[in-house]
Amino acid sequence: MLDNIRVVLVNTSHPGNIGGAARAMKNMGLSRLVLVEPEDFPSSEAVARASGATDVLDSAQVVGTLEDALAGCTLVLGTSARDRRIPWPLVDPRECATLALEQVAQDGEVALVFGREYAGLTNEELQRCQYHVHIPSDPEFGSLNLAAAVQVLVYEVRMAWLAGQGRPTKREKLETTAMLNAQLATADELERYYEHLERTLVEIGFLDPAKPRHLMSRLRRLYGRAAVTRLEMNILRGILTETQKAVASQTNKRSED
Ligand code: SAH
Repeated sequence: MLDNIRVVLVNTSHPGNIGGAARAMKNMGLSRLVLVEPEDFPSSEAVARASGATDVLDSAQVVGTLEDALAGCTLVLGTSARDRRIPWPLVDPRECATLALEQVAQDGEVALVFGREYAGLTNEELQRCQYHVHIPSDPEFGSLNLAAAVQVLVYEVRMAWLAGQGRPTKREKLETTAMLNAQLATADELERYYEHLERTLVEIGFLDPAKPRHLMSRLRRLYGRAAVTRLEMNILRGILTETQKAVASQTNKRSED
């Protein structure tokens, strides 16, 4: 998933910063580095600063223009050391990470674009970005080292990614629903349902445990004929749970009166 987020460094002068950015990326689980006209690359200084993240450097894509770097991207976020150069949708790194992960969850491709050490990104470059990202640093000394700025952003991406771990994506949810819809409820699920149904019928006073007659076996026959799917079973269980809650709250009310 994080493979769909690329870090784009524009016209970097110091190879050490490229290495530092590669290390920051690998630390946070990102691997796609794109370099637009780097001044000095490949370089031993980049390798030294990458400190083991040489695979990120080795697979880095070197391109001639920002346009080439952004090919295939559905969301482009450009970083800027100054907070309001041109009026543009402005986000902080945390919001940036949320946007980026929302985009990759929908199979989009995201670029985080970083500028030159001395001059940042040009206005024209910034206008290629849907959002500007500003790290809310002290305005008296607001410009971070390039690799440090990369670190801040990719850290936020990782935090947002970790927060989403274990939570099913939209597609997974749809797949689960389709699956539950297609599968019949199993014998043990039906059995649990009958137990739940019986408890609820007793709670609402429909079934007298002292005189059960043939109610449960008749209901079993009815549900057995219906070929209930797992999704339908979940709905039926949900209805029982809500019925029980409603009965419990009425009983509580009466005892308060
Ligand atoms: N003198 C330049 C500084 C560029 S710093 C300028 O004022 O634009 C190099 C790069 O690091 C920037 O282009 C940006 O990508 C990133 N960067 C540095 N400080 C940042 C901050 N506070 N917020 C967002 N990005 C920052």
